Amino acid sequence: MKPTLYGLELEEAEALMKALGEPAYRAGQLLAWLYQKHIATLEEAKTLPADLRTKLTEVYDLAGLTFAEDFEGGRGDSHKFLFKTRDGRLLESVLISQQGRQTVCVSTQLGCKIGCVFCASGKGKFGRNLTAGEIIEQIIWIEKKIKMPVTNVVFMGMGEPLDNFDATMKTLRLLQADWGLAMGGRRITVSTSGITPKIVEFVKLNEGRVRLSVSLHSSIEAKRSELVPINKKYTLKELVEALDKIHHELKRDITFEYTLIRDVNDSDEEARGVAQIASRLHAKVNIIPYNPIREMDFRTPEKPRIDAFVHALEAKGVRVMVRQTAGREINAACGQLRLDREKPA
Ligand code: SF4
Repeated sequence: MKPTLYGLELEEAEALMKALGEPAYRAGQLLAWLYQKHIATLEEAKTLPADLRTKLTEVYDLAGLTFAEDFEGGRGDSHKFLFKTRDGRLLESVLISQQGRQTVCVSTQLGCKIGCVFCASGKGKFGRNLTAGEIIEQIIWIEKKIKMPVTNVVFMGMGEPLDNFDATMKTLRLLQADWGLAMGGRRITVSTSGITPKIVEFVKLNEGRVRLSVSLHSSIEAKRSELVPINKKYTLKELVEALDKIHHELKRDITFEYTLIRDVNDSDEEARGVAQIASRLHAKVNIIPYNPIREMDFRTPEKPRIDAFVHALEAKGVRVMVRQTAGREINAACGQLRLDREKPA
């Protein structure tokens, strides 16, 4: 399969132009057509000479994704998009339109190796890592479709972004560069299940510009290992110590995601544990009441239990938000559509 033009960085585009015997400024022109004008065919790139467009087509495909399906989310403020890759695989992205913000939740892998027990993305067979082009295209094609700028990006779709580290870091560069999508780092959030060494590397590489969100889901070591199996390798204790260093030495803010599941991780003991961890790190906690999916019989806690959990955290001075319609809430069922479509008939 040919590489794709979407996903090229400035240096790569310059090297490509040099190899084709073209002046370096053609690289900037090409990237403007890709990342600012979102061309769907190379013929649209009118400032590039016809013979250069022909040469490019011989060695590159323009894009790696095409739209397969899209539909409204339950509350009308979210929209799910199903994309098809060139090797015939499906992936999901979600657009959340709230308070004037257009947030896209991107996938970074086809499936996920982490296997969190409550998540549809971890259920199917792991396919492969997405390329940086395939990750950035999710944003580009959605922006083109809705005819307005995507204001925020969250890496909370299918896959563990830090398990596809190089492509995720490249996508972050493509998102933030002037010649790319020129998006401020504070509008981008990378969410991880807790691959501790990669979190430290990610924070250092991004100099804290991009927001970090960590999926906590339990404050009890054994319980977290059940819910988020990566915890057996990178324990909660090590994770909290690394985050402590990130917060206190590198001065970075941390947000926790906590999927609240009835009779699983919604106890008073859990609330006390979460409050303790969040206070130590001055971290904000996003509570996401579990969104049921068909393969599992976990349930959503009753409203009084959610309220009690939230109050227990607030009583310890922790900033808490209950998210009803946001990336991870949709992500609880993220991968569901792909699972359905990829099931043999
Ligand atoms: S919650 Fe995230 S890390 Fe866990 S299985 Fe799902 S996609 Fe993977």
